[in-house]
Amino acid sequence: MPRALQELKQRLAEIVDLGKVAGLLAWDQRTMMAPAGAPARAEQLATVTRIAHEKFVSEEIGRLLEELRPYEESLDYDSDAASLIRMTRRDYEKARLVPTELRAEMSRSAAIALSVWDEARETSDFGLFLPHLERNVELRRRYVACFAKAQEDYDLLLDDYEPGMTTAEVRAVFHELKAGLVPLIAEIAERADAVDDSCLRGSFPVERQQAFERKVLESFGFSPRSWRIDETVHPFASSMSSDDIRLTTRHHETDLSAIFATMHEFGHGLYEHGVDRALERTPLARGASLGLHESQSRMWENLIGRGRPFWRRFYPELQEAFPEQLGSVDLETFYRAINKVQPSLIRIEADEATYNLHIVLRFELEQEMLAGRVALADLPEVWNMRMREYLGVDVPDDAHGVLQDMHWAGGSIGYFPTYSLGNIVSAQIWERLGADLPDLDEQIERGELGPLREWLRERLHRHGRKFMPKETLERVVGGPIDPRPYLRYLRSKLGEIYGLPGSR
Ligand code: ZN
Repeated sequence: MPRALQELKQRLAEIVDLGKVAGLLAWDQRTMMAPAGAPARAEQLATVTRIAHEKFVSEEIGRLLEELRPYEESLDYDSDAASLIRMTRRDYEKARLVPTELRAEMSRSAAIALSVWDEARETSDFGLFLPHLERNVELRRRYVACFAKAQEDYDLLLDDYEPGMTTAEVRAVFHELKAGLVPLIAEIAERADAVDDSCLRGSFPVERQQAFERKVLESFGFSPRSWRIDETVHPFASSMSSDDIRLTTRHHETDLSAIFATMHEFGHGLYEHGVDRALERTPLARGASLGLHESQSRMWENLIGRGRPFWRRFYPELQEAFPEQLGSVDLETFYRAINKVQPSLIRIEADEATYNLHIVLRFELEQEMLAGRVALADLPEVWNMRMREYLGVDVPDDAHGVLQDMHWAGGSIGYFPTYSLGNIVSAQIWERLGADLPDLDEQIERGELGPLREWLRERLHRHGRKFMPKETLERVVGGPIDPRPYLRYLRSKLGEIYGLPGSR
């Protein structure tokens, strides 16, 4: 290995360490820290972020990348070293355009906004949150201004979450998605009574939910040696290394939504856990993009976790955990209930079909916020109007409306579209999986998830971020992003449940 590559790897390892330290501080803030610790935590995060950024945009990194150009050309495109140099160069060319002070301020103001958001959401007080949202949006405008002009300003934010994808591409994909979903949701609405989900509401003691989830997670591949799961307000997954995976979830005594949130976060954790250990302490040791990440979480939550084979295996145990609630509810009734389509207020609790309309709404609003086409003070009103228009629901208060998600508090604008991209990709991967593992359903029903995990690891997880998202997807499914498999999947599954014409 050339000396320049050794030096680059050494420097990147330290920068990755600092990023993981920031991740740990953020994890702690969301799971353990007492609320009054927020101002000091914001400074700590800003400090670590600033040091990492300074180290990364240093002239030495630029010099090493230049020096490595001829070596890079001699390498196989797929090799770890070639990917490391190529992806680092892309990151470097972006990062060096952003002043360190701006980077640190984005991190500081996000940490403060997050703690205010907690309170604002609890008291449904948008006014309390508004100045922090204004600050976050302002900082994103300054961030966008650091770069050469893109086709659309939003492209520059989107690229941080879905590298290489443009707003126009997302718009086209969402257009096709919406064109398939709107009529499907309308057909289902005419038969809304066909599914009764009352069995999912009642009293489900939290400790029993946790014990059940633990069994599910262990059958999925969760092991206490490398994984943790903790309570939080807004579930997320993070990792400090491929062998230090942190899942979070949240429980309600009155329903079973936590089970699905937990399976979702497991999917994120498994992706990080499956990255080739040779990539550890490099910028490649994580998922290729948030869309690909979400394809994994949504696959475990929905394609597996809301499927018949999984519940054939686990429903008896769930009944045993909640005999008063589910003892006399048969599997088919339960399966239909967990797949009920019903426009609702909260994105993370939405069914598989209407979920995407929540995303389309946020994608449109974010572009308008960034461009200043909607005044931030008017956001609750605009939100509520669109919810009525897209989903036909009335928003009772901002906690169930514009304040429900943490993303804008955390400064993550441009992130939301990746959720629906993930849904779409999850179905593309699932079709591919079905072709390669013809008895997948039987395996899931027997609780044998090894072959599925191995397929995902071999085809997707182990590569981490070695390739751009489009290249990665091409390698996994043999083509570009395509909403048709997802629409086929929904129409077939929901068509059967609701007895729609043309389905069995
Ligand atoms: Zn997710």
